[in-house]
Amino acid sequence: MLSQSSGSDANSSRIWDPLCCNCGRTTTLAKSWTNDNPGRRFFKCVVHGFAKWADEQRPYGWQKVSLLEARDEIKVLKESLKVMNVSGSNSISHEEEKKKLESELMASNEREKMLRQIILLSWGGFIVVIAIILVMGKK
Ligand SMILES: [Zn+2]
Repeated sequence: MLSQSSGSDANSSRIWDPLCCNCGRTTTLAKSWTNDNPGRRFFKCVVHGFAKWADEQRPYGWQKVSLLEARDEIKVLKESLKVMNVSGSNSISHEEEKKKLESELMASNEREKMLRQIILLSWGGFIVVIAIILVMGKK
């Protein structure tokens, strides 16, 4: 009898990397960031470059637009990080930088949660005010 020792992990099944059709070398999975194919994965040969698309579908529509925007944002962020690393006399360690970014992310999440509550509260207040006006108006 077989016991179920191995958990079903979706990530464990790796796509089989095809060989380059020009030289037969094994390819590696890479990601394209061109204007036509942002975020689309392809198999890359060390000699010939592009070998085959890994993602069958081309990026299109709003997904493509948002991917391009994300790409450009990342580019800008990378540039600013580079500038920070060059000009930074007191070098912040990567670990500190990561912590800072994480706490900023947490803060923005908290802010969003608070904003949502404020909106809900103000709606509640608005309804109460309307109700009072209606009740007063009837008299
Ligand atoms: Zn090749």
